[in-house]
Amino acid sequence: MQDPLEQIESNVRGYARLFPAVFHKAVGSTITDTEGNDFIDFFCGAGSLNYGHNNRQAKAALLRYIQADGIQHSLDTVTAAKVDFLEAFERIILKPRGLDYRVQFTGPTGTNAVEAAVKLARKQTQRSHVVAFTNAYHGHSLGALALTGNQFYHSQFYGSHNNVTHLPFDGYMGDYDTSLLLEKMLDDPSSGLPKPAAVILETIQGEGGVNVSSATWLQRVASLCQQHGIHLIVDDIQVGNGRSGKFFSFEHAGVTPDIVCVSKSIGSGMPMSIVLIRPEIDVWKPGEHTGTFRGNNLAFVSARAVLEYWNDPSFEQQIEDRSQIIQKQLRAICAKHSDHSLSVRGRGLIWGLDMHCGDLASQTIRNAFNAGLLIEGAGASDEVLKVMPALTIETSLLQEGLQILESAVDAAIN
Ligand code: PMP
Repeated sequence: MQDPLEQIESNVRGYARLFPAVFHKAVGSTITDTEGNDFIDFFCGAGSLNYGHNNRQAKAALLRYIQADGIQHSLDTVTAAKVDFLEAFERIILKPRGLDYRVQFTGPTGTNAVEAAVKLARKQTQRSHVVAFTNAYHGHSLGALALTGNQFYHSQFYGSHNNVTHLPFDGYMGDYDTSLLLEKMLDDPSSGLPKPAAVILETIQGEGGVNVSSATWLQRVASLCQQHGIHLIVDDIQVGNGRSGKFFSFEHAGVTPDIVCVSKSIGSGMPMSIVLIRPEIDVWKPGEHTGTFRGNNLAFVSARAVLEYWNDPSFEQQIEDRSQIIQKQLRAICAKHSDHSLSVRGRGLIWGLDMHCGDLASQTIRNAFNAGLLIEGAGASDEVLKVMPALTIETSLLQEGLQILESAVDAAIN
């Protein structure tokens, strides 16, 4: 058999190249390889492990459930595990936030939720066009890919640009308020922009480089959508589930999207995605948008267990405390290397250290890996280091990881 690491070097893509190790165990924010090396995890399964690896509560609930021969997979049928999740989601998440949404299970991946959201908006408005934004990342299936900004993921042969216009995201043009451009184009019949069914956005672009939109910009976009009868779809796949410091990222701006895509950490490591739909616009006929693996009951059990964090009134403060620790250290790194004009942006527990140079960022990622820290790059040229630890990371481990990061930056720059 070929050595697994050789295999990684020779033909495996993506994260396997970034983190050349064979991993086999993980608890909380520590992941261990087969050689017994521990790594602090600031990568967090690209945002799918907000509650840490093998979260204690989720694991206990899963073990109990499997032990009792609970139903594993049920397609669209009603099960006790599904009802439990829905009841808790309504009681713990939606109701206290004054949100009224129908929940549609869309399958295992975030992309599945994006596809469902766009299809629903198109069907309900009887319009096909969608506005997305520069640097957006919404997935890799042909529909979701059309909404994804970075040209790197496209090919002229995919035919994946249909019915989508990308407009500049907040901050893309410096201080210019890009919602004015959306406004102008929607109002002007000669702008070339067909009236869209939906505007889709991430409030903080994760893969796009930790670009944080302002509350004012989001409010303007939301109000333009409302004025023009366009559905606002918030893709909260990466920055929902508490990543921004609140359960939903749009809570910071006080806007209420028509449709919300939720996935990644919702199942705490188990594959699951949902869309939340304003009841008035739910025009699906039964069975009209289906898919086999939308009935993963193990995901419902795991998801139900971690919702309990949101019953703890101090949970948001715990996230904020960790957020402050990160900000302080990243700003210190920038100050130390002021001649390299590094910059910092983020919110909650998603922070970007912009190194303005892909090579410098990738050297830092390699240095960090060699010293026991997993961290990922983001942005158009992977020039931004994305600091994304679990919401539940112990503060001592967080500090240790940040220390490794600082040394990794020092070594890359010097
Ligand atoms: N939307 C956003 C904002 C994402 O970050 C991602 C994944 N990085 C997706 C959609 C696609 O999710 P998945 O990879 O689970 O299909």
